[in-house]
Amino acid sequence: MPAPEPRRTHHVTDVLVVGGGPSGLALAAELSVRGLSVRLVAPHPPIPFVPTYGAWWDELPAWAQACAAQVWTDVRVYTSGKPTPLLRPYALLDNARLLGALLARAGDGLCWTQGTVRTTVRAGDLWQVQGAAGETWSARVVVDAAGHGGILRPTRFDGGAALQTAYGIVARFERPPSPPGAMVWMDYRAAHLPRQAVRAVPTFLYAMHLGGDRYFVQETSLIARPAPTQETLRARLYARLAANGTPPHALEADEWVVFPMNAPAPQPGPVLAFGAAAGLVHPISGFQVAGALADAPRVAQAVARALRRGEDAAAAGWAALWPPERRAAREVHLLDLAALLALPGDGLPAFFAAFFRLPAPEWHAFLAPHTGVGALARSMLRVFVQVPPRVRWSLARVAAQQPGVSLRALRAARMKAASGSSHPSPAAVGHPGAMTNPNPETGDIDQQEVIEEGMQGATGNVNADGLAPDVDRQEKLAELQENLSEVSGERQSP
Ligand SMILES: Cc1cc2nc3c(=O)[nH]c(=O)nc-3n(C[C@H](O)[C@H](O)[C@H](O)COP(=O)(O)OP(=O)(O)OC[C@H]3O[C@@H](n4cnc5c(N)ncnc54)[C@H](O)[C@@H]3O)c2cc1C
Repeated sequence: MPAPEPRRTHHVTDVLVVGGGPSGLALAAELSVRGLSVRLVAPHPPIPFVPTYGAWWDELPAWAQACAAQVWTDVRVYTSGKPTPLLRPYALLDNARLLGALLARAGDGLCWTQGTVRTTVRAGDLWQVQGAAGETWSARVVVDAAGHGGILRPTRFDGGAALQTAYGIVARFERPPSPPGAMVWMDYRAAHLPRQAVRAVPTFLYAMHLGGDRYFVQETSLIARPAPTQETLRARLYARLAANGTPPHALEADEWVVFPMNAPAPQPGPVLAFGAAAGLVHPISGFQVAGALADAPRVAQAVARALRRGEDAAAAGWAALWPPERRAAREVHLLDLAALLALPGDGLPAFFAAFFRLPAPEWHAFLAPHTGVGALARSMLRVFVQVPPRVRWSLARVAAQQPGVSLRALRAARMKAASGSSHPSPAAVGHPGAMTNPNPETGDIDQQEVIEEGMQGATGNVNADGLAPDVDRQEKLAELQENLSEVSGERQSP
């Protein structure tokens, strides 16, 4: 258990973490394990996290797998009448167990302080962090893990926040609202709704059988701007249940989900951001928890080493979290997100039907936190080729709106294709710091160059279309059209 707060005089700690969610606590625990004194400030005491957290079983660190409340091996999606089995176990986390495991790992090095952080100022070698009740805490390093958007390093969402929203209930059912024993990751069937409504507001069912007659069922809008309201999603959920003849008969709890999906890779700064505050939410799935648990040791290691050496610990933590490959990949993921936002809602089932027809390692990698640009782009190209023409047209139009990003992604995709493997390399998927060497002998594209170009978006040196200001836009558009035509076998005229 964390040491209690003994008095109002506040001793200096090595690190102050703002936020007691899974990310802040995971990082605090890893810092403490490395011998650092850590203060975690949150408005609440250590209580189990509130949201219903799900994760791919294989993305959870081994210790966190032991914190699963339930694991399903029958995991499906429905993009049409027939289910697609995903053959990938999915876990529901037991938040009390997760909290207990993190607190146990943190041990005595962690001091959990109840309070609300307002601001922080630098005074010599130390940060003075100020609380809403007039407290001042001193620390050598400050981490903003205050959740989506952050508090000390607020995120700027390009074009406004694109939100994932969902309304879910835990309830008892006389008739199963989803297949017993199964987890339904995505059910886009919507025969009960007018086509126009689906086109305007596409939503799907996310459902878990919790045992007996208990189910968690949630109507979800994957990404939207503007997002549907809680009332709309609630009405959608009940309409779906009524149409299936499976109304709930005993409601135990409900949940409203809303968070932004389109955070860019943050810039380095004097305060280190982590978790949702660092934009670690995956821009396509909305997942974050498993990734943050896995990232925490690496980031803590970098911070601890820098503090020992008297170096800039916030910069070291940022570099460990956002290697160039990951920043470049974020740019491509944001392009994919823009493509999904632009797609008429009734095109989403066809998109995901093609997505889940990808070889399993590819779609796993696409949804993973550390996959490189080349692998992402190759997966998207395969989807692009397989979707119906009206969906392909919509995707091509968005690609043409951001020709700089699209061309960099295509180049990265072609580079790996030239090297002969059809699967993302383990290095690209699993090790964010790893980069493939250029191959001057074969004339392959220099991946380092692609990554550096890819980082232009992250450093702000591009226009909204992803091009440097001095680039010939028409020339780039023509190049992009040619590339897309090659891939799809059709003439594209975006
Ligand atoms: C309802 C819901 C369901 C979700 N489901 C999933 C899921 O199934 N799987 C998944 O991977 N992701 C999911 N997400 C997305 C994301 O992973 C979560 O939002 C996750 O909680 C983010 O973790 P975090 O620790 O970064 O931030 P948070 O969990 O938001 O924690 C932020 C912490 O900072 C504290 N705080 C805020 N302001 C201050 C302040 N000024 N001073 C001090 N403390 C402050 C808060 O009290 C809290 O303790 C879900 C999100 C929501 C909202």
